[in-house]
Amino acid sequence: MSEKPKFVMCICTGECPGFQSLNLWQLINYVRNELDVEYAIVHPQLCVDDGDRFLTDYIKPNSKYIIGACDPKMQRKMFKDAFASVGGDFDQQVISLDLRNMSTEDAMKKVEEAVKQTVSS
Ligand code: SF4
Repeated sequence: MSEKPKFVMCICTGECPGFQSLNLWQLINYVRNELDVEYAIVHPQLCVDDGDRFLTDYIKPNSKYIIGACDPKMQRKMFKDAFASVGGDFDQQVISLDLRNMSTEDAMKKVEEAVKQTVSS
């Protein structure tokens, strides 16, 4: 059986105004309990040094990830080297979602669509 996607939410330290309308725990519990994922986790800030170290430790070359964070182009720029360093490929393995300035409900819908996309692909 092929592995389900893993959902990683980057919450931008928890202080970023872009995530103020999002109820993080409602979102993460919805994703882990209701959607077809392996699991859902939260990281405080993926784009700094400890975030890099986390990604390098964590990424497996054959897993699929849905990353909820900021602009997908920025995510690609910031995370692709970490994927490459473990023999992975950001473009093949990740669906990146911009979940800033969204209500919790809209963020849930966006993640749900991404999960369906990985299942049908
Ligand atoms: S990856 Fe994006 S959402 Fe996460 S901390 Fe950096 S700027 Fe914020």
